[in-house]
Amino acid sequence: MSGRTFIQNPGPTNIPERILRAMARPAIDFGTEQFSQLLDTSLEDLSRHMASPGPLIGYTSTGHGAWEATVTNLFDIGASVLLCDSGHFSHRWGEMCEAHGLNVQWFETGWQQGVNPDALHEALSSEDGKRIEGVLLAHTETSTGVTTDLEAVRAVLDDLDHEALLVVDSIASFGCTPLYVDEMKLDACLAVSQKGLMMPVGLAFTGISERAVAAAYRNSRQRFYWDWRRRLEAEGYRMFCGTPPIHHIFGLREALSMIDEEGGIDAVTTRHQLIADAVRAAVQAWSCAGALDFNAVNEHERSNSVTCVRLIGEHDANQVLQVARERFDVTMGSGIGPLAGTAFRIGHLGDLNAPMIMGALGAIEAALRSCGIPIGSGGLEAAANILSESRR
Ligand SMILES: *Cc1c(COP(=O)(O)O)cnc(C)c1O
Repeated sequence: MSGRTFIQNPGPTNIPERILRAMARPAIDFGTEQFSQLLDTSLEDLSRHMASPGPLIGYTSTGHGAWEATVTNLFDIGASVLLCDSGHFSHRWGEMCEAHGLNVQWFETGWQQGVNPDALHEALSSEDGKRIEGVLLAHTETSTGVTTDLEAVRAVLDDLDHEALLVVDSIASFGCTPLYVDEMKLDACLAVSQKGLMMPVGLAFTGISERAVAAAYRNSRQRFYWDWRRRLEAEGYRMFCGTPPIHHIFGLREALSMIDEEGGIDAVTTRHQLIADAVRAAVQAWSCAGALDFNAVNEHERSNSVTCVRLIGEHDANQVLQVARERFDVTMGSGIGPLAGTAFRIGHLGDLNAPMIMGALGAIEAALRSCGIPIGSGGLEAAANILSESRR
């Protein structure tokens, strides 16, 4: 097979050669000044990119680990939390909360929309709502392609003077959509290595506020490996509760330098917006034949990281995925849960530029045509038009 396969999955994402090379080196002693410096400056830079003024806790884990750490540190058994169920990932996080003995109040959004501020206002004003200690939500819900307006959520809590901690899974949005932990007053903000950070799976983080630190110290729940109190001590070994992931830190250092070389996190999110606009323009044009549509019903909630495309009628999304992968060398995300078999997801986050996204869209269009799915014309032209208007 000639050429390369395009990974248009919403995670893991493309790993730039630079990051791979930075990781391909011998291990170093993690007790040295050299390693502590590398770790400290990497965490400082990552905090700066998240605009997160408080401590940043790192884990050698997937996003699921960051979920578990965050929930078990912030909330004791029996605590009430409001879980914004906006898709597969947030739903699973809610199931994890229940497994850890939390009293989960499920706030449903219907999996085609983000968190509606008026509905949230109502839920938090009720008698049950007043007892809520944490509002948990996914900023970008990767299974549905929907991004929630965090400023609107923050405004609801402020308006009600509600004390609940605002706990945000920004796993799919960090580096793709503007995210300012300080201005948005997030108490916990979760991220991982294998999405916008362009790295292999294996590192996860929670940026936490002073209120979150206090909540963790008040919380008497038994915990050990994930315990933030244990990890808040600066030395590398303790910080990761075991041997630090040295090679991932090499990779992280390189990823953060790449972000700065591009012009900082705002430049990176602007590129994501542009590439996402190109994808949306193509999908919009394809949708004119009536056989497919965006899963996200509200235009302003369509995410910069992933576009979830629903097929209308009898068309088989799994066939599209298979043809795209096997004949056109593009892999994409499948529909999850109720969207299984009827949707496919185009990931457009991480290390991507104009020719990569045009190539992917061209191959996806070819796959749709091969599968006999009626599509409107001009998708690629619309995408190219968007890209042509950018000034870099
Ligand atoms: C990918 C993802 C997760 C899960 O991360 P893992 O590393 O696979 O555990 C959680 N939440 C969101 C929004 C995601 O996109």
